[in-house]
Amino acid sequence: MSRLSDIGEDALIARLISKAPCDPAPGGGPGDDCAVIEYPDDRGRLELLKTDALVCNVHYTLESPPKQVGWKAVARVVSDFAAMGGRPERFLVTLALPPETEVAWAEALYDGIGEALRVFDARLAGGETSRVPKGSSAVISIAATGSVSREALVLRSTGKPGDVLMVTGRLGGSIAHKHLHFTPRIKESDWLVSNFKPTAMMDISDGLAKDLPRLAEASACGFELDFEALPRGEGCGVDQALTDGEDYELLFAMAPERVAELQAAWAKRFPDLELTVIGRLVEEGKGITLSGGWDHFAGLPDA
Ligand SMILES: [Mg+2]
Repeated sequence: MSRLSDIGEDALIARLISKAPCDPAPGGGPGDDCAVIEYPDDRGRLELLKTDALVCNVHYTLESPPKQVGWKAVARVVSDFAAMGGRPERFLVTLALPPETEVAWAEALYDGIGEALRVFDARLAGGETSRVPKGSSAVISIAATGSVSREALVLRSTGKPGDVLMVTGRLGGSIAHKHLHFTPRIKESDWLVSNFKPTAMMDISDGLAKDLPRLAEASACGFELDFEALPRGEGCGVDQALTDGEDYELLFAMAPERVAELQAAWAKRFPDLELTVIGRLVEEGKGITLSGGWDHFAGLPDA
């Protein structure tokens, strides 16, 4: 019998999606950082939909400060809106908690949720609460709407061979340094899509080794990577930069003739955040392959 741990997350998703009627336009259906939906009345904008989940002992632990867990729950979703060139708007929060959870924990969680919503100019629209059996892990699930102007929308699937691959910030070491404290790159994304629109973009949540092949495959491209050039987090080697995950940095493809001008403008606009050329897209079937990165199911021992 085949189990989830045998096939991995991406293969599971592909099998599940094939069973449902999917929305093909205008974002190409499931598979990007957010779903892209036409508004019934065209306001020059497109609706973005996102759902996400944090699970205790997967994405945080009982020792994690609950306020920071709440921040992370919202910030992860904001990072996915940034990945599309859009912005967040309304949030629905579902909590499934074991009954022994302290009330103060839940309130502190919402202090963090509220702070992140204020910082990123979004609103709580509703939610749901449920219990999980005593001793089970808590689940915090977030659904959110956002929007993006038609001109600003950036998909994963529109990169071209020859495009230069770039990444914001530094990769690796998130679990030690920032996974509960990171700032999603929403203002950087907003500036990018207005001034140097990437040909393709996503955020790095599962590690470059997992996410770069996803972007390349969606764009029907191969890729080359300059391992020495990877901007690495404090104390991190190349392997950690590739596979640690939870970086929440932007990975994007840029037309090569714009790269020098972008780098000069970026250094002026965001002097405290690195922007690094890490490789390029090439024709499909060429370039290198990568393995590793975060997979929710692969590599786990059988339950
Ligand atoms: Mg993402």
